[in-house]
Amino acid sequence: MTKTICLLPGDGIGTEIVAQGKKALEAAANRTGQSLAFTSALIGGAAYDETGSPLPQETVDMCRAADAVFLGAVGGPKWDALSPDKRPEKGILGIRKELGLFANLRPALLLPELAGACLLRADTAKKGLDLIVVRELTGDIYFGQPRGIEVRDGQRTGFNTMVYSEEEIRRIAVVGFDTAMKRRKKLCSVDKSNVLETSRLWREIVNDVAKAYPEVEVEHMYVDNAAMQLVRDPSQFDVVLTGNIFGDILSDEAAAITGSLGMLPSASMGSQAPALFEPIHGSAPDIAGQDKANPLATILSAAMLMRLGLNMPEEAALIEAAVSAALASYRTADIMEPGKTLVGCEKMGDIVAGLIAG
Ligand code: NAD
Repeated sequence: MTKTICLLPGDGIGTEIVAQGKKALEAAANRTGQSLAFTSALIGGAAYDETGSPLPQETVDMCRAADAVFLGAVGGPKWDALSPDKRPEKGILGIRKELGLFANLRPALLLPELAGACLLRADTAKKGLDLIVVRELTGDIYFGQPRGIEVRDGQRTGFNTMVYSEEEIRRIAVVGFDTAMKRRKKLCSVDKSNVLETSRLWREIVNDVAKAYPEVEVEHMYVDNAAMQLVRDPSQFDVVLTGNIFGDILSDEAAAITGSLGMLPSASMGSQAPALFEPIHGSAPDIAGQDKANPLATILSAAMLMRLGLNMPEEAALIEAAVSAALASYRTADIMEPGKTLVGCEKMGDIVAGLIAG
């Protein structure tokens, strides 16, 4: 049966990198005899320029009709002065909400080929880094009510509300444990239960969900300790399960220590298809249109799309193996090392697609 992927290239380098990701998807599907169809829709600044909205209804409808959504990036200085409801970033928040994407999965993997880029001490890096942050995406202090800025006792006072319902915690915990079952069966739940009631409920529900996963080794860690342990010894982590605000910070920290922003993919999932797959970096306006972008985060997002979005693990593995093989000889400028051949975005995409084709 033909699977449909809706492409949302977006702004800046988005169009360049999504084109390379598409080549990888096509090459993997061709290799194993699968059939893929592609649609394409506007999001972000490109959508605003064309329609006056960063997320036109037509885009939402096309995403809903697809089996998976593949996003580049949005944003750029051209749209910085727009009001918040028109800004390109509103397109991403909007599509996550429309598709009910409550779980964000961000692997941080240090490929042996890129060990030199890792920001950690060589002896720490040598122990390896292969973890995934499972972050709740639609709740917590980012969305809790009441919120605002008001005058209290004669002073302007800002306030937000950290809130999680039992059901919200349970469904993200299930994603975390399911993810752990497919990996090394270790889960570290991160909270601040020594201070926050929200976190106390979080810990209680995670322990309850854990009963259904006796094979998974569970540990709880306070967020301040987790931030420290991530740089001290990231090899201790397999799945890191956490809420929206802690996950926002920890997933960026985990990404940063690998040293290569252009290498990291992500998936955002709900309780039903389609899920959304995208690189973690932005639209890189400083290098847009120059064929300098590293397409590998997007190509690795294509691998996640095949594994998690289309249940095609064989095709996902083909893409991942091709990325490792390409890195042995070729580099884009952001990860260039002596002894390697410098290539542009399109050429890197062609090399990976060629390696997938075999
Ligand atoms: P950025 O990730 O776009 O760029 C940061 C730096 O990393 C830049 O120097 C850029 O050239 C470099 N870089 C990023 N991706 C790269 C790649 N694939 N290959 C080589 N180099 C790469 O972050 P920023 O500069 O803070 O933001 C630029 C725009 O992107 C802003 O409008 C921001 O709002 C938006 N943004 C969008 C997303 C998204 O679409 N999910 C995420 C983050 C930022």
